[in-house]
Amino acid sequence: MKKYILSIDQGTTSSRAILFSKDGSIEAMSQVELQLIYPHQGWVEADPLEIWISVVNVVNEVLIKGNITWKDIDSIGITNQRETSIVWDKKTGKPIYNAIIWQSRQSSEICGKFDSKKLIIHEKTGLLINPYFSASKIRFILDNVKGAQKKAEDGELLFGTIETWLIYKMTNGKHHYTDTTNASRTMLFNIHTLSWDKELLEIFNIPSKMLPEVKPCNFDFGAATYFDKRVHILGVAGDQHASLFGHNCFNVGECKNTYGTGCFMLMNTGDKPVISNNGLLTTIAWDLNGKVTYALEGSVFIGGAAIQWLRDGLNAIKTAPDSDECACRVSSSDGVYVVPAFVGLGAPYWDDDVRGSMFGITRSTTRSHIVRATLESIAYQSKDVFELMEKESGYQIPSLQVDGGATGSKVLMQFQSDILQIDIKKPMCLEQTALGVAYIAGLKSGFWKNLDEIKCCHKYKEIYNPKISKEDAEHLCDGWEIAVKATREFKFR
Ligand code: ADP
Repeated sequence: MKKYILSIDQGTTSSRAILFSKDGSIEAMSQVELQLIYPHQGWVEADPLEIWISVVNVVNEVLIKGNITWKDIDSIGITNQRETSIVWDKKTGKPIYNAIIWQSRQSSEICGKFDSKKLIIHEKTGLLINPYFSASKIRFILDNVKGAQKKAEDGELLFGTIETWLIYKMTNGKHHYTDTTNASRTMLFNIHTLSWDKELLEIFNIPSKMLPEVKPCNFDFGAATYFDKRVHILGVAGDQHASLFGHNCFNVGECKNTYGTGCFMLMNTGDKPVISNNGLLTTIAWDLNGKVTYALEGSVFIGGAAIQWLRDGLNAIKTAPDSDECACRVSSSDGVYVVPAFVGLGAPYWDDDVRGSMFGITRSTTRSHIVRATLESIAYQSKDVFELMEKESGYQIPSLQVDGGATGSKVLMQFQSDILQIDIKKPMCLEQTALGVAYIAGLKSGFWKNLDEIKCCHKYKEIYNPKISKEDAEHLCDGWEIAVKATREFKFR
């Protein structure tokens, strides 16, 4: 009988369920959009029950779409938006506050209070103090829900990131587990000792009783009794980590970049954590049977969002895919540079105060030049992170695996290859995140026997090779460097 792995991909704006066959292809997929809640400027929350119900709905729907029953499911993998935090009552299972989404800035002030601890936090967790990570979000909930701190100390509350919440609901409250990758994003987990860190828990005054047990990514997280008790959850990983695995970046120095709203680049650094002094994060790539692989991570704040700005802010294009058609009307950006520092610049600049700019405009500059320069800006920013990653890790990245919505732009992909002077490889399956966690679950169950079988599933849809010389690439990049420098000097507001 043909069997499938069911992957659940719980993201910020949607939940997806996907059935994968043994050859790594998608048999069926179901998706629902999620409502985000914005209680105040900069705050982003969601209803944890809506998240759970959305998962129930997509799982039920994907079985109908695939015309299969639970008997046909080998096992389940869960991948999720990271850092988003939920606290619920141990007795009733009811959340005491909304899920605080990773993007939310509501705990910025709390983070400010821990600034003096930034070195120790960085050393132990590989992270920088920032409201993105879970610790300050938990602190926010315990500070703002009446009686919560005391209840947490009395062992009456549980904390979880999204995968923990889903495991808890799917096992009807039996298991309170997380996996090592998600734990590594909480700012409470020591990535060297692979355990919750007592000193960090004291710093943030978070009772250890509320934390889930940390397990490897390919652990048996329990029977999904809510759906069918015969089917077990055998793979769990945060979204960017699952994507790195989906891309088959199994060797040291291999790297993927996801071009979504922002860009997320992760590089496999093997069994040793590389601690960055220039703003890259150190994180756990995956943990299989307790054998940990580490990764370096760098992000670009404005990736595909720059294309949204062309569409919604400038009305320069009607839809995101139109950007290529418009850019192709000219053969180059003709010296125009766009620096989309709309919310500051991340690695390697880390400049919060800088704002976007445009350079090199003449009477003959057209909409097409600006659209092209905006697409190119995504590639330049990714190049900055890429070069920093090579420098800090000491590895030379042989080629770059890519995914995410903005890889729909052939202009962007070709330009990325041109300025990096390496091959850019876009896989056949665009759901690398869901596929990655399917691989992890399927390796555990024996659905796939080993990594070699998985490598056979990995096929490319498009490969881009550099089409310009190294000298021309360097010349273009020199222009970008000057544009960024000038942008950072302009601080008039
Ligand atoms: P996220 O997971 O962050 O929501 P997605 O991977 O769904 O992001 O990608 C959406 C982003 O990709 C949007 O910012 C959009 O502007 C951009 N995008 C989508 N299609 C294209 C395209 N053909 N060309 C350029 N950008 C695109």
